[in-house]
Amino acid sequence: MDGALPDPARLRAQRLAAVRDAMASVGVDALCCTGGADLAWLTGYEATALERPTVLVVERDGAATLVVPALEAPRVGEDPRLFRLAPWRDGDDPVTLVADLLRAAGDVAVSDTARAGFLLALEAALPQVRWRAASSITGPLRAVKDARELAALEAAGAAADEVAKALVAGEIPLLGRTESEVAAEIGRRLLEVGHAAVNFAIVGSGPNAASPHHEPGRRRIGPGETVVCDFGGTFRLDGDVGYCSDVTRTVVTGEPTGELRDLYDAVAAAQAEALAAVRPGVPCEEIDRVGRARIAHAGYGDAFVHRIGHGIGIEAHEDPYLVAGNRSPLRAGHAFSVEPGIYLAGRLGVRIEDVVLVAEDGARLCSSADRSLRVVEA
Ligand code: ZN
Ligand code: ZN
Ligand code: ZN
Repeated sequence: MDGALPDPARLRAQRLAAVRDAMASVGVDALCCTGGADLAWLTGYEATALERPTVLVVERDGAATLVVPALEAPRVGEDPRLFRLAPWRDGDDPVTLVADLLRAAGDVAVSDTARAGFLLALEAALPQVRWRAASSITGPLRAVKDARELAALEAAGAAADEVAKALVAGEIPLLGRTESEVAAEIGRRLLEVGHAAVNFAIVGSGPNAASPHHEPGRRRIGPGETVVCDFGGTFRLDGDVGYCSDVTRTVVTGEPTGELRDLYDAVAAAQAEALAAVRPGVPCEEIDRVGRARIAHAGYGDAFVHRIGHGIGIEAHEDPYLVAGNRSPLRAGHAFSVEPGIYLAGRLGVRIEDVVLVAEDGARLCSSADRSLRVVEA
């Protein structure tokens, strides 16, 4: 990707048009977007989650209006071609403001993450409305990234990849340090390579490696131990809306045992085979099935305790989910993680994760740090 990326305002206008088309095709009259990733994707405004409601109402055949607390309004990049700004002050009733915009609507799609308190008040004010989840409209649209989003995900992935490369090269000392010290260094490095925020840094050593979402703690890393490091942050390409990175490498602080080699080989083969299966048209669940079959063949089927991957974008986890039962086909422009793992409770764990973008001819990897088992004796 080079500098010739489309203008963000033009892309947002296209997204709004796509949302209105999708609303028309499923018979939704209005979208009621209460912040979060949908709002950032449609407007470029990343609202802080507050008790004061911020709501974008998109009428299918009418206007789009951003109801926003007056004190937050200066942070909104206003664009009258996309939406009208309706600031409210403390003392005003935002529920009435939003309800007035939805009076004529029969079917309304509301953000999955809307606060229950706000939605209950809105339901009471609008007894005629039939509600449904906004993700049924925005999820599949947001899953297919445009050129600018792909560039942002590549930049995020390349930045996190620098940290992963430092890890497998032994440049991040492990021996004798606590998991939280290592996690703190990974976080520092994520910021140094350009992330605007650290979203998480999992460091699981020895028996803790068997807990996929282990909270790094005071355990000191000893020799000959497996260390799973899974980390990611939010990256703003050209100061635009943030997109996420997510990468995992498992290293060992000494000569690996035969058992660890077996586990590692199975996970690495599962990832390679799952990646090779990625292309437009293949059902999402097929990627999971391919990786899972490889791990089951090695005898560890029960120890692969999670789906093989999740979509990634403005949110660290979003559509599409690569999981049994998701038969929707992969499409060019999808972005997701491929992260098989084997977890032997209380003893040992291995995971390898990379984010890929789906191109017409297959998977394009966002990271390239060595995926072979690396011994880090530092
Ligand atoms: Zn995870
Ligand atoms: Zn991860
Ligand atoms: Zn992940």
